[in-house]
Amino acid sequence: MSTKQVYSFGPDGTEGRSDMRELLGGKGANLAEMASLGLPVPPGFTISTAVCAHHTETGGYPEGLTDEVREALAKVESRVGARFGDPKNPLLVSVRSGAPASMPGMMDTVLNLGLNDETVRGLADKAQDERFAYDSYRRFIQMFGDVVLGIDHSRFEEALELYKEEHGYNLDTELTADDWKALIEQFKQIVEDETGEPFPQDPEQQLWKAINAVFGSWMNQRAVTYRRLHNIPQNWGTAVNVQAMVFGNMGDDCATGVAFTRDPSTGDNEFYGEFLPNAQGEDVVAGIRTPQPLTTHAKQKNDSDLPALEETMPSVYRQLHDVRQKLESHYRDMQDIEFTVQRGTLYMLQTRTGKRTARAALTIAVDMVKDGIITESEAVERVSPASLDQLLHPTLDPEAEREVIARGLPASPGAAAGVAVFTADRAEELSQAGTDVILCRTETSPEDIHGMHAAKGIVTARGGMTSHAAVVARGMGRPCVAGAGQLRIDEQQRRMIVDGVTVKEGDTITIDGAAGEVIRGKVPTVKPELSGEFATFMGWADRLRELGVRTNAETPQDARTAVEFGAQGIGLCRTEHMFFESDRITAVREMILAESEEGRRGPLARIEPMQRQDFVDLFRIMAGFPVTIRLLDPPLHEFLPREDADMHEVAQAAGMTVDQVRARALKLTEANPMLGHRGCRLGITYPEIYEMQVRAIFNAAADVAEETGETVEPEIMIPLVAVAKELEILRGLVDRVASEVMKDRGTRIAYKVGTMIELPRAAMLADAIAKHADFFSFGTNDLTQTAFGISRDDAASFMPTYQSQGILSTDPFISLDQDGVGKLVEMGAREGRRSNPALSLGICGEHGGDPDSIGFCQGTELEYVSCSPYRVPIARLAAAQAAIRQRKAQRAAA
Ligand code: PEP
Ligand code: MG
Repeated sequence: MSTKQVYSFGPDGTEGRSDMRELLGGKGANLAEMASLGLPVPPGFTISTAVCAHHTETGGYPEGLTDEVREALAKVESRVGARFGDPKNPLLVSVRSGAPASMPGMMDTVLNLGLNDETVRGLADKAQDERFAYDSYRRFIQMFGDVVLGIDHSRFEEALELYKEEHGYNLDTELTADDWKALIEQFKQIVEDETGEPFPQDPEQQLWKAINAVFGSWMNQRAVTYRRLHNIPQNWGTAVNVQAMVFGNMGDDCATGVAFTRDPSTGDNEFYGEFLPNAQGEDVVAGIRTPQPLTTHAKQKNDSDLPALEETMPSVYRQLHDVRQKLESHYRDMQDIEFTVQRGTLYMLQTRTGKRTARAALTIAVDMVKDGIITESEAVERVSPASLDQLLHPTLDPEAEREVIARGLPASPGAAAGVAVFTADRAEELSQAGTDVILCRTETSPEDIHGMHAAKGIVTARGGMTSHAAVVARGMGRPCVAGAGQLRIDEQQRRMIVDGVTVKEGDTITIDGAAGEVIRGKVPTVKPELSGEFATFMGWADRLRELGVRTNAETPQDARTAVEFGAQGIGLCRTEHMFFESDRITAVREMILAESEEGRRGPLARIEPMQRQDFVDLFRIMAGFPVTIRLLDPPLHEFLPREDADMHEVAQAAGMTVDQVRARALKLTEANPMLGHRGCRLGITYPEIYEMQVRAIFNAAADVAEETGETVEPEIMIPLVAVAKELEILRGLVDRVASEVMKDRGTRIAYKVGTMIELPRAAMLADAIAKHADFFSFGTNDLTQTAFGISRDDAASFMPTYQSQGILSTDPFISLDQDGVGKLVEMGAREGRRSNPALSLGICGEHGGDPDSIGFCQGTELEYVSCSPYRVPIARLAAAQAAIRQRKAQRAAA
């Protein structure tokens, strides 16, 4: 027996469920669930994602599909009481994609399918509205022509514009049935010109062509890109939903709209949405007409003079409000719904978990725990760690002057400044060159997705809170001001004009996505205030997690920020960053240029008190927490002077000529510095540098212990060890200097000596290395670089191609390559512990702040992750989620 491929849904018998989203896609699974709940869902059926996979692979369909579709369609016909292709009483359907993960606007939809020269007359009679019927038919030809037949939609739009011009019309609504009839003839001609075949009149043929197109759209470029950006597997496939049409555009007692069961921006427990009277589905999302509020409350709040649904259709509103309650209590989460009102009757077309800002996610999660709807653990699982970024980043300084040039909707919170650009391509180009950009568009479409991703913020002149720009920006966590109607954006001339002010490409603007403001110039920002809810929520996460979270920091400011964000110590202090400080760079350069140990000792002695003060500052801020200090790591030539002025300064300080400085610098230059004279190799060849650093560390620890009475526990970390002997020698150096200082200061300081594991050889010989180490910290940046043999500084030029070809699913410098580099980490941890059971283990590469990589760490012997300060809360939450997942998996296995 072959497996079932088509699942019906409708008032009397539904075959799918909400937990079947892998097979039915999110839309199909939830339509089935709503139908089962007794909500008014137009009947239809879902063709499974397994069919898509088959179609992508073979271009054809599995055996038996045609029969199953025919059977399911017959059920729809009997439920609706109309027949597909019946000239008198035609059934019309929509054909939509629906993947297991939400991919808004990425794939294709065809509405009004089943119309042809005959059925259009039947529809006109049935609806007693000829104009509506012919308008629907022309929309169908347009959509089918674009989506299924691949005809550029501008061909149809141009014909329509020309027709309006010739007949003196301004708006589409002025066109009569006869006008649409005339245009339909033109549209059909366009189809014939473009494809060499007449517009298909056979509804069955229309249906299969549309199904084909939806399955095909899974592999279109924008969908492939979207999946790459959102880490959605390319092999999932989409389902196809075929559903009886209902019409929101049959007159003034009709409407179509979208709503969220709670406010998706703030999380407030208020019904929130928009609708358009007398309109068809896509009109709301397209952002061409200004939508009206759902509730009178929202109307008052936003000072809108457009009537609310609550006022114009009170009984429909009450029904919709009931649906809201039912869906929330059933799904136990905020829902994003689509509905249509046809001649006073409400129909539900979609429900799904609503996308929300981080602020809203927190509020909703905390409220739902307080109301006993979900547990703390469920609340912690519901907030995406990466989304916290939105809460942690600075907002505009309220005291600062701001020259607001335009206002729009507060579509996605946060503030950003950058230069204005007017196309997605330009946004990508400039951002790749390192410039912050704000993408300004009349409205955005899925074709702009790469530019939206590249931009720091997004502005549109048209569209509502549910427009493409708003939805996508919220999902990406980019600030967005949508529908700033005063802006006239001129893509051709690369500028926008508002009230006589011209902003050209390259001019700096600032946007405030929470206030909906577009501001001229760059406005200073202030640090975010974290709400009480945030602390409550993070407290739950801390109770649930097992991994410790430390920070990578070397400046007092970063260290303080990290402690405020909940860091439990420093996991990596990169001391070389301290060497660049302006008060010592000349001494550092002098030290490097010296040809002998003697020559180096002079400048090192000048640097030492400054280093000591650096560590005093860090130890004070991190009182009571461990501080891991890595001794000097990078190739020396990185510090060398490049500018003439710097050369002069160093030459003078070192008593050399500029030519001598230049010659020495040339001599220090390496062919492959990443694999050159760096890391512990510097400590081996120039031990006096490490001696100075260790002395500074221990003196600082003694200073702070004397001053505060707090114990300070420095952890000294040796970088880039490949051979056990390297660590043995350098551990000897640390122990010797430590005991000298302790003797000198008459005190005892507990400390640890460890190493980074950042070379494959170190991971392979971890047992030998661990004999000389108190701890390992996995430096997965270099470990990734050396395991792949890919330079971490040069990967950007080919990484996108590798990802789009599916060679690598994610950039391994961002998210840990668990299959390869992960094996090295596991091996290093296991072998290290085997030879030294007391060994402590952590990770301090960039991966320490990446949620997926943290998920991996949870499954290893690692005790903590360390990441940049702003990622500390992200790591705390990701660690909690990883622990919850692991416990669930263990329970399931037991
Ligand atoms: C690493 O290599 O992972 C690391 C943390 O060190 P750095 O990035 O300084 O090379
Ligand atoms: Mg490194």
